[in-house]
Amino acid sequence: MHLPRHRCCTLAATFALALLAACTTVQRRNPIATWVPSANFDQRHAVIIVLHYTQQHSVEESLSTLRGENSTGPVSAHYLIGKDGRIFQLVPDGARAWHAGNGRWGTITDLNSASIGIELDNDGASDFAEPQVESLLRLLDDLTTRLMIPKTQVIGHADMAPSRKQDPGPRFPWSRLAAAGYGLWPRGELGEPPAGFDPWLALSAIGYALDDRPAAVRAYREHYRGDRATALDAQDLRILANLAAQRAKRPTQ
Ligand SMILES: [Zn+2]
Repeated sequence: MHLPRHRCCTLAATFALALLAACTTVQRRNPIATWVPSANFDQRHAVIIVLHYTQQHSVEESLSTLRGENSTGPVSAHYLIGKDGRIFQLVPDGARAWHAGNGRWGTITDLNSASIGIELDNDGASDFAEPQVESLLRLLDDLTTRLMIPKTQVIGHADMAPSRKQDPGPRFPWSRLAAAGYGLWPRGELGEPPAGFDPWLALSAIGYALDDRPAAVRAYREHYRGDRATALDAQDLRILANLAAQRAKRPTQ
C-alpha cells in the first residue's frame, strides 16, 4: 500500500519506538540461573504512599517538570493533584516513578520501588486548598483499597529523607488524614511513657532513620507537632510512646 512519504516516516518512527519500548521492558534475566519461564505472575504492588508538595507555582509548571528532562535530571510521580482538586496520573501504579530519591523508612531502603508518589500543587508556604485535600482523600481511598496498601502506610517525603527534604511541610493536614484513617497518628489518651522509655527506639520503630538525629526529630515534629523543632519535649515522649505501641501491635496496618 502506498503511503504519503510523511506517513511512511511516521509509521517507521512508531515501529522503531515500539521496538525500543519492547526492549526496555524486557526483564533482565539472572545469568547465574537457568531461565524456565512461568506465565503465572503479574505486576508488584506498592506497599506505601509518599506525599510531596511541588514547591512550584502552578500545576502546569509541575506537569512540565514531572514529564520533562530538567536541568537537574528527570523526576516524576504517579499522581499530581491541583489546588482545584483535579487528579492527574503520570506513571502507572505498577511502575517505578522517580519521586523519593535516597532515604529509608523502617526496613524499606528503595522507596521508589516500594511506593506510590503523590505530588500536591503547593508552593511550600501556603495552606493546602480544600478541594485538593478532598481529592487526596478520595485518591488514598482508591489506592489503599485497590492496591491493598495498609491505610497507616502514608508518609511524607521528609519522613523518609529528613536530611534532604521538608515536604509536605508543617502546613500539611496530617490530623485531617488521620481522622479519615490514613497515616500513623496518636490514638486515645496520651499517657505517660513507661519507665525507661527510649524515644530513639520509638522513632526507629515508627520508621525514622536515625543517621541524622536532629533531622529525624525535625521531620517528626513537622509531621506530628506542625513545627520544625529539633529537640524532643515531654509531650513528644507521650506521642512517641503511643505511636510505638500502635506499631508494635499492628506493624503493617
Ligand atoms: Zn518531595
